[in-house]
Amino acid sequence: MTTVGQTLPLAEAPSAGYPESHVPVTPVLSLASFGRGGERIPSVLDAGAARLVTSGRVAIALALREMGIGPGDAVLVPSYHCASMIEPVVWAGARPVFYRIRPDTSVDLIDVAAKLDADCKVLMATNYYGFPQDLVALRAFCDARGIALLEDCAHCFLGQHKGKPVGSYGDYAIASSMKFFPMYEGGVLVSARHSLAGVHLQPAGKGFEAKAAINTLEDSFAYGRLFVVRALLALPLWLKDVLWGRLKGRKESAPSLAPGSSDGGFGFDPRWLDKRSSLCSRLLLRLVSRPRMGALRRRNYLKLQAALHGLPGCRPLFATLPDGVCPWIFPLLVDRPQPLFRTLKMQGVPILRFGEYPWPGVDASVCPASADLSQRVLSFPCHQELREAELDWMISQIKDALLQRSATAP
Ligand SMILES: *Cc1c(COP(=O)(O)O)cnc(C)c1O
Repeated sequence: MTTVGQTLPLAEAPSAGYPESHVPVTPVLSLASFGRGGERIPSVLDAGAARLVTSGRVAIALALREMGIGPGDAVLVPSYHCASMIEPVVWAGARPVFYRIRPDTSVDLIDVAAKLDADCKVLMATNYYGFPQDLVALRAFCDARGIALLEDCAHCFLGQHKGKPVGSYGDYAIASSMKFFPMYEGGVLVSARHSLAGVHLQPAGKGFEAKAAINTLEDSFAYGRLFVVRALLALPLWLKDVLWGRLKGRKESAPSLAPGSSDGGFGFDPRWLDKRSSLCSRLLLRLVSRPRMGALRRRNYLKLQAALHGLPGCRPLFATLPDGVCPWIFPLLVDRPQPLFRTLKMQGVPILRFGEYPWPGVDASVCPASADLSQRVLSFPCHQELREAELDWMISQIKDALLQRSATAP
């Protein structure tokens, strides 16, 4: 199985000695994905002109390119980050300047103002876990200082803030479709303020198109979805495995058919900058029900929140789930996270972590809150493709583990 858009290669890798997750970590395709129901929630695609690319990280690079960022420039980036946010900045030749966030993940504008110098052209701000920043304040701050705002909506494909869709406040915004939709690859570049007419995308080739479609199906089959389709495709997929094995077995390495981002790697590959997202992903972006996605993510999040409320040694990172927020995952702030992490991973409970591997030099002396969050937040999926029984199983495992360790705590 491929793990898409993951933020923790080591902990999710089978080589770490953990079994495969018993429930899908990221959304997997099922017939229900296309179902109706739920209220319409705005998305980044409603914010303005859009370009559908293969990942959020290449969308960041394209945004920087559109803004003319290059050597000699600096980009203000959060200390709480993943490498795929910083690599495009370095690729552009610019200097990342790490600013602090507060313990509630909000941008520390006092620190941003203190770090701002004449080289700084852009403020990158992330709406963590689906919860928008105070985007009105960030917009006003950038306008007052004549710098651009790059709104990182990788965690909030859907949602609104003060009556406008997420992604509307930035000069440019980016999203990671593969974090929300059952798809193998996909990212979005959006602008509510500037033309994207200069961004021309090319198809990435037949091999890539095939891989995107096949991997989407295989991820789905791995968790027992779409079994009728699976039966129909058994023979062609077997043939594909045989052919693939032959190709790989050859001396000369087969060309890379998909960006490293889609194979769970951390890589940023500039060759994917101008490549259009696959037909499969673009179709899914249109056909997968967004009202259902919004409603189920909120419902699953609230179920996790209610079930874990008051358990010892932890609390939800966010106290409430405001209207208009469509969460990416459910972040739980845990005391002594490592033993709990190990226990749950051994049981096949999926755990996502964000920001665990900060850019070299970005430690607690740069931002205590980021260092703390990157260690203590363990997140659980709340995506729309979790079945009721899967969610219940996951909750009971987490509950048991938390209660047991408090009973045996010294
Ligand atoms: C995942 C992520 C990105 C990059 O998105 P990809 O689609 O994985 O390239 C950018 N910013 C944040 C906050 C992310 O979590």
